[in-house]
Amino acid sequence: MKEDSLLVNAGRHPERFQGAVNTPVVRGSTVVSPNLDHWLQSRKRQAAGEFGVSTYGRFGTATHHALQEAIVDIGGGHRAMLYPSGLAAISSVLTSLLSAGDHVLLTDSGYYWTSQFLESTLVRFGVQVTRYDPSLGSDIAALIRPNTRVIYAESPGSETFEIQDIPAIAAAAHAHGAYVVMDNTWGTPLYFPAFEHGVDVSIQAATKYIVGHSDAILGIATCNQRSWEKVLRTSQTLGQTCSADDAFLALRGLRTLGVRLKRHWESGVRIATWLEARPEVEVVMHPAIPSHPGHALWKRDFRGACGLFAIGLRPLPEAALHAFIDNLRMFGLGVSWGGYESLALPFSPAVRAIARWPYAGPGVRIHVGLEDPDDLIADLEHGFDAMAMAMRKTYECSES
Ligand SMILES: *Cc1c(COP(=O)(O)O)cnc(C)c1O
Repeated sequence: MKEDSLLVNAGRHPERFQGAVNTPVVRGSTVVSPNLDHWLQSRKRQAAGEFGVSTYGRFGTATHHALQEAIVDIGGGHRAMLYPSGLAAISSVLTSLLSAGDHVLLTDSGYYWTSQFLESTLVRFGVQVTRYDPSLGSDIAALIRPNTRVIYAESPGSETFEIQDIPAIAAAAHAHGAYVVMDNTWGTPLYFPAFEHGVDVSIQAATKYIVGHSDAILGIATCNQRSWEKVLRTSQTLGQTCSADDAFLALRGLRTLGVRLKRHWESGVRIATWLEARPEVEVVMHPAIPSHPGHALWKRDFRGACGLFAIGLRPLPEAALHAFIDNLRMFGLGVSWGGYESLALPFSPAVRAIARWPYAGPGVRIHVGLEDPDDLIADLEHGFDAMAMAMRKTYECSES
């Protein structure tokens, strides 16, 4: 089946649900057996890791199983585990693979809370953490120690959008028996085939494009055969689960992921290109535009892009940045992304230890939603006009 047909059909079994097109929301805690023999068999099959067998709501219901099945059908891998948030998926996977005395290499371009979890929480349990430059490919081998168990990647990086050479990193990791864990939220299972590129665990903040409507928080970790047992057992002992309602919303989001992403990608590139020509903008960081330093790698390894990127503004007074943001009507001011709506969020990438922000002005992360791009461009123009007015005012004040 081709991608779009898979998105429609993956994980659906109408015959099991009186013909209902969608797997219903199956809420529940207790799962009863018709007799003791069935109960004992079910427990055994579940302990052996058989897919779709559950003796308790915490281990999932039909709704959860439908999402787990669909994600593997679409993005590859062996099995998928669900979590109450993207961050819970990240922290649980890292806890599953690391023990006291182990070493983890963490990309310096990682999501803020991932770095926080490793550097403030896991270090308390005796895990050593070293950040690495996201531009490293096979040269990462020089940083691998005998106790390196995990190389953590995120491509493109949060806020700064560096594309990593994942196949080269995976080859170096596997030569030393280490796991490659990747935050693949930007690429989604559709546009970055993580397992074909050597990733062992691919993590989705499903909160973003999979749910796609800014109405649920959810995480998914898809594992290959090598990592699955460890991730499953530890996640189970951590009590990880998610609500059937949220799993249902993720399944609903999946059906339209293909068409939504195409539009986010197209509008994102159009607006990024328009912004690149603006005098107020020093740099545009969108992997799908040719000026991006990771463009060639993106073209080699990704099958598409999305609506999330960043710009670096030329240095400007604080009041002018406020005027720009405050006068945007269609771009909301808030965190998260991947919903149908556009967002613009100023950031200061001071958290980077190695890949320092080389620009004098502030950054603005932009999520291009599903609105008409002409309206979005008009909105940005309006914001830039307000910025110019605020700049003139600042200069008049400083002159008088
Ligand atoms: C949002 C995000 C997360 C965390 O997801 P939550 O569901 O908010 O916990 C992880 N990684 C990336 C790249 C994100 O953007």
